[in-house]
Parts: sequence; structure tokens; C-alpha cells
Amino acid sequence: MMSYGEICKELIAKNAVSYGDIYDFSETPLEKLFEEFFTFCQTNLSERCKEYDIQPSRFIYTNSYNIEARARFVKGFNIIEVTSGAMIETYKLLSFRNTLFNENKEVIKNYGSLQELIKIPLGHIMFQAAVQFTYYHELAHLAQKPFNEFKSFDESKHKGQGDKYSVQKHCLEFDADIHAANLLPAHILDFWNKQPKEAQTSENLSKLLSVAVSGILNYFMIMGQCGDNIYYDEKSHPHPVIRAVNITDKIIRVAEINVDFKLDSGAILQEAFNLTEKFCEHHKLLNFAVQFNEIFRAHSNDIGKYIEVLDKEADQFPNLLRNKFPDIE
Ligand SMILES: [Zn+2]
Repeated sequence: MMSYGEICKELIAKNAVSYGDIYDFSETPLEKLFEEFFTFCQTNLSERCKEYDIQPSRFIYTNSYNIEARARFVKGFNIIEVTSGAMIETYKLLSFRNTLFNENKEVIKNYGSLQELIKIPLGHIMFQAAVQFTYYHELAHLAQKPFNEFKSFDESKHKGQGDKYSVQKHCLEFDADIHAANLLPAHILDFWNKQPKEAQTSENLSKLLSVAVSGILNYFMIMGQCGDNIYYDEKSHPHPVIRAVNITDKIIRVAEINVDFKLDSGAILQEAFNLTEKFCEHHKLLNFAVQFNEIFRAHSNDIGKYIEVLDKEADQFPNLLRNKFPDIE
């Protein structure tokens, strides 16, 4: 596999990215974190994505404080870009400065034994779920190949044109979410299976999944996609609560295939909302999660209906992975 430096040189030489836009993480405090995530993403792109016909594909960090991720096709390269700001902020908030799991009494009571069991800080699990979700979501956009119609797929909230609604855009976003939700459980189960057999209970796995879903919700929040009242056919991305319902449902279904007990998707999602609410309260962040909980309770019927609408509309767009690879998705 090419090193990060080699990839940057190549993209600059081919005029796919300009020198000033590339983030060089060498000798920065988070060098190891950047390097590890790059290695995971680029290895996955180079070696595991044969069926998607997206070569050459490259993963880079861009030099920006904005919290943004995007997928684009330029000068023959399929590129996933994550800003340095997105990595640093997400790491700081969810992992490094996340004291929820060792300071909040109620959370310690609920999660203390899980934390003891799995050894890795639960905040770090939130961080990992968030960035892995982002990678798989952007990967799906590359594989959808929608670049005849859309120049690039930008995930952060945009004002004006970039945030315009189309049913196709919502279907592409939903499809990318489902793709990510399909692949994320493997990482959780991978390390779940390393736990002692007697600890592999439905209760523990449910908690772990709530932590992961909460990580994704927090990430939507960091990206500035929250704070809106419920909406359906508006804006470039479906409402975060609708996305969360859809994602969680898929994650649970995939996880259930791999364990010999049932999981309660509604309860796991509710707990993810609760955890997100406590996370915001504990860190004195603007608390969108209270609103998530209210929206979820008040509109769950309409949310379910909108998911069904997109599910039907999805048939007309051949770009979607669910239509290109029905067996995988
Ligand atoms: Zn997207």
C-alpha cells in the first residue's frame, strides 16, 4: 500500500488536489491517530473494495478547521477527504476530553461493568464508531458514482444551493447510511467476540451498540447537522433523527445475524438518545439530544412513514448500492 506521503505527492502531481489543501499530520500531537485511521481507510479502499469499481481510490485529510467529510471524483481519482478539523474535534470531544463514563454517577452505574470488561475507554468506542461510520458512508458515495449529477458529496450542513432537497439526494444519503450501518457491526462484533463467553450477554451487547450509535449521533451534532425541528422532504440530508432510526435498525439487524439472542432496536436507540443527552449535559454542550428525544417520541409514526417513502422511491435510482449490489446490501 502507498504511504500517506506518496499518495499526497501523487495527487498533487496529477493536479487532483493542491498542495495547500493537504493536511500533513507528521510530527503533530495526534500523528499516531491520523496514521492509524489513514491506514485502515486506504487499506480498505485498495484491498477490500474490488466489487465497487472505484480504483484508483485515495483517502486524504484536508487542511481545514471546518468539520467536513466528502467524496469526489477528480482527474480520474476517487477521493475521500476528511478535514483535519473533523478528526481533531471528534477525537477531542468524544474520546480525549470525554469524561462522561468516569464522572457521571448514573452513567457509571449503568456502564461501569461494561467499561471494566472491555478495557478500551467507552468514549474512544464512540470516536471509533463515528469515524468508521464516516469512512463507510463516503465509500458508499464513491461506489454509487453519482458524479455526473453531483460534483461532490459534502456532508456538513450547507446554506443555500448545497443544502437543497431532492428525493434522489435523500435516497443516496440513506443508501450510504445503510451501507455504513451494514459494515460497522463487524468492528463491534470483532472485539465483542474477544470477551469472555459469560460476559457476552444481550444486555452488554445492547449497551455497547447504544454507545456506538450515540457516537454517530454526536458526530452528526459536531458536523452541525442537528438543531433543526423535524423535517421530511427538505434539505440535502434527511433529518438526523430519521437517519439515526434507519441506521440503528440496520445495525441491530446485522448484529442479530451474528449472535444467538434477539436485540431490541427501539430500546437500543432510545438508550443512545439518552446517552447523547447525558453527554451534552455533562460537557455543557448545546443539548440537541433533548430535542432528539422529543422528536423521536412525538413523530415516530411519521418518521417510519418517511423511511417507507424513501424505501419505495429508491427503486428508481440505479446508482444506489442497494440496486447495484442487492445481495450485499
Ligand atoms: Zn453523504
